[in-house]
Amino acid sequence: MKQVIFATGNAHKLQEIKEILVDLDWDIISMKEAGIDMEIIEDGKTFEENAIIKARTIMEATGKMVLADDSGLVIDYLNGEPGIYSARYMGEDTSYHIKNKSLVDRLEGVPQEKRTARFVCAVAAIFPDGQVLTTEGKFEGIIGYEERGENGFGYDPIFFLPEYGCSSAELSREKKNELSHRGQALRMMRDKLQGQRGM
Ligand code: IMP
Repeated sequence: MKQVIFATGNAHKLQEIKEILVDLDWDIISMKEAGIDMEIIEDGKTFEENAIIKARTIMEATGKMVLADDSGLVIDYLNGEPGIYSARYMGEDTSYHIKNKSLVDRLEGVPQEKRTARFVCAVAAIFPDGQVLTTEGKFEGIIGYEERGENGFGYDPIFFLPEYGCSSAELSREKKNELSHRGQALRMMRDKLQGQRGM
């Protein structure tokens, strides 16, 4: 079985990734399982650049094939904030309850049609020979008026999906994987890899 490292320390993400790529005959392991404990400086200007930086750093440290993602919430009314700084918004250690409340407060009085937002996810795959593949998925919604739902993580409770009448924290895991930015980008990557290398 092919072993691939997924460059994330986020257990929720790794779980989603394993579920989405379950059909592949790959042993997807976390950085921790690969015995890697290093801080990666994400100083790219786009989701794609940051995904490549993460993947390349771990590939160079291990010599193995690495997948990495970089994702975040883009709010149109806030000129794209928090964007690539989604994890760092208000500080890494600030609770998402506080981050979510801050974003909802910053949109106080903003009508529904101007509350458009999307989760974006770039996935990068890098091979030991340095070849890079990237994909990007987008999940469109609006910023709600309060937190709703217990599933998911991060900004899911304030990410409202008008066509489903719920937040992404109220979707089942299966439904979120089907619709989400990460699900889209990973399935595109799975298809690219299968096409490229007969994997
Ligand atoms: P990354 O780990 O650098 O990609 O940071 C991603 C950050 O974006 C997370 O820590 C969350 O704040 C946010 N984010 C990305 N995807 C999701 C999602 O599916 N639900 C909720 N928040 C997300």
